[in-house]
Amino acid sequence: MATLRSGSVSLVGAGPGDPELLTVKAIKAIRGASVLLVDDLVGPGVLRYARKSARIVHVGKRGGCASTPQAFIHRLMVAEAQRGETVVRLKGGDPFVFGRGGEEAEHLRAAGITVDVVNGISSGLAAATSLGVPWTHREHAHGVLLVTGHAGESNAELHWPTLAAAAAQGLTLVVYMGVQRLASIQAGLLTGLPAETPAALVQHASTARERRLITHIGSLSEDARAAGIGSPAILIVGNVLLACPAGAAERTEVDTASLVSAQLPRPSSRRTS
Ligand code: SAH
Repeated sequence: MATLRSGSVSLVGAGPGDPELLTVKAIKAIRGASVLLVDDLVGPGVLRYARKSARIVHVGKRGGCASTPQAFIHRLMVAEAQRGETVVRLKGGDPFVFGRGGEEAEHLRAAGITVDVVNGISSGLAAATSLGVPWTHREHAHGVLLVTGHAGESNAELHWPTLAAAAAQGLTLVVYMGVQRLASIQAGLLTGLPAETPAALVQHASTARERRLITHIGSLSEDARAAGIGSPAILIVGNVLLACPAGAAERTEVDTASLVSAQLPRPSSRRTS
């Protein structure tokens, strides 16, 4: 059990949005927090577990939008912990899958502050589950690569032809932060994969606003634009999408609300009472 020490910081994964996908450990940490520093990809339902007396500070950092500088977040975490607060840094998905959880943990440790990390369900995993496919499959995918589509401040561009070659070997590609750069990602993938390789986008995975698009890399950016799919979304590329439930692998935009009302089978983790 995660016991929060006074004056500590806990980096807590809030999961992809659906509060029912929080871990028990995350709920305990949120309940125990006196201060919560919250990313903007954290689903609003998650905050219902916070104490009424807790101070909630929104420190969103969305690419391309007005955002809180990372240095400010670092300073705030340290200052609150040094004042003896029980700080929960609530991050979308898993704290250690992109989203700078690693940098935050290093900064806190360097400042002599104890850091706990509580895993969350990463949005890339939730997106695959929403599509009804696994990341790996004995017949279609022998591994998975999690990559960012956004080079960020480090400017370290990924080599998409290499990733395409890996996907051609039977690895599923799961791309975070790729929606703004779909056209160039598509061009890179087409250097090593056939145009008919299946690709899917899931926006707002696990929430009431979820939207899914299943297509092929040959028309990926065009179809995404036509469907109006924007951030936050996960791109999944690979033959594992061939294992989509019947009808799902067509080039159609699927609306979750209509699926629910049509009583089509949903993954059990998404079932609502
Ligand atoms: N730590 C997070 C990822 C942070 S990077 C995690 O494990 O999920 C931010 C990116 O995550 C977004 O650009 C988007 O690609 C993805 N993302 C986060 N929440 C999402 C959601 N509910 N649906 C689809 N993509 C999401």
